[in-house]
Amino acid sequence: MAFEGLADRLQDTLQKIRGKGKVTEADVKEMMREVRLALLEADVNFKVVKQFINKVKERAVGQEVMKSLTPGQQVIKVVNEELTALMGGEQSKIAVSSRPPTVIMMAGLQGAGKTTTVGKLANHLRKNHNRKPLLVAADIYRPAAINQLETLGKQLSMPVFSMGDQVSPVEIASKAIEKAKEEHLDYVIIDTAGRLHIDEDLMQELKDVKEAVTPDEIFLVVDSMTGQDAVNVAESFNDALDITGVVLTKLDGDTRGGAALSIKAVTDKPIKFAGMGEKLDALEPFHPERMASRILGMGDVLTLIEKAQTSVDEDKAKELEKKMRTMSFTFDDFLDQLGQVRSMGPLDELMDMIPGMNKKAMKNVSVDEKQIGRVEAIIQSMTTREKEEPDIINASRKKRIAVGSGTTVQDVNRLLKQFDEMKKMMKQMTNMSKGGKKKGKGM
Ligand code: GDP
Repeated sequence: MAFEGLADRLQDTLQKIRGKGKVTEADVKEMMREVRLALLEADVNFKVVKQFINKVKERAVGQEVMKSLTPGQQVIKVVNEELTALMGGEQSKIAVSSRPPTVIMMAGLQGAGKTTTVGKLANHLRKNHNRKPLLVAADIYRPAAINQLETLGKQLSMPVFSMGDQVSPVEIASKAIEKAKEEHLDYVIIDTAGRLHIDEDLMQELKDVKEAVTPDEIFLVVDSMTGQDAVNVAESFNDALDITGVVLTKLDGDTRGGAALSIKAVTDKPIKFAGMGEKLDALEPFHPERMASRILGMGDVLTLIEKAQTSVDEDKAKELEKKMRTMSFTFDDFLDQLGQVRSMGPLDELMDMIPGMNKKAMKNVSVDEKQIGRVEAIIQSMTTREKEEPDIINASRKKRIAVGSGTTVQDVNRLLKQFDEMKKMMKQMTNMSKGGKKKGKGM
């Protein structure tokens, strides 16, 4: 999970002060020492840490905290606000050109995830903003880059513009924009060349492309797992190209979070998106305030709701509601529901978004992926009739199901009981909603 170490340490530190009715300067000092260490251990740039600590300290020993009724919580509020400010404050939106197509140029070192991000971004623009992007293969040096983009285009059923590797990137980019105009495509996303290290030739080539197509956005793609290196790379690219924003990839595997917390402060350019996995839907708009809440274990309900809205199939939801009303909900529907929850992302990541459900709180709760896998296996080992009429599942059937799913009879029993309780609850709920109509008939 992203920010795991930092989240654990900050939450521990803040826990000590949370309920305090009185907070002294010494308390704040002691706490800030721990926060400072936690940030440094998370590989946050040391200058950034210093500034951050000074700001929080100043506010935490000031009027707004000492005089408040809940000083402990007030300190946490200050930390939350300053973390949010550190990552850029407001969410930074993607540009929309008044004269389409909007041109986005992507830059970054090889392996940062640039080509993958071109695909993810195109997918995001179509899915969430109803846009029609053109993907442009202007990385003519890495042999597989053009093929990789063409494959992504096929997966997404989106057009890819390429002219092979014998034409200059400037010409490819310019022709691509003409093509987008002709075909009424409203976004052009240009994949440029990357190198293993920053060098003059690369920067010159990128500057030439920039000059030729005057992009609306120049996104620098950096690998968050490289920590302070990512911050240095961002600084160099920004000096040369004056980028408009950063896409931070591989945040799913970055347990420290130093790059995410330092980039805005060092480059003064916002993080626009975060890559959260290899799949094409694993790109999230970067919301500083939500990220700060997640780090402090305060959850991120808004992202959770958005995920639910995009992953849950509306027709299925309506069908399900009808089944609940008519009490014809079966184990197959249950399986379907589990599948929908799973499609929202890895469970531990979802749990982090629920307030109070951070790693610490979850230690004794066993809602893990394995357990869901077991539930799925049990249901899959049932016959069609058993799924529809679980009442017929007697002792010998239970044994057969347990063997078939590699679980125990106790596991099967537990699931049957849960399912039964769920049905009872549904019955109560439907009765309640019918209650109003039955009025007058008496009890
Ligand atoms: P490029 O050289 O910058 O174009 O890099 P690629 O797009 O080829 O990506 C390099 C590797 O990083 C690939 O294996 C990608 O699947 C992987 N990758 C890219 N973004 C992410 C991300 O957000 N999370 C994870 N876990 N992997 C990523």
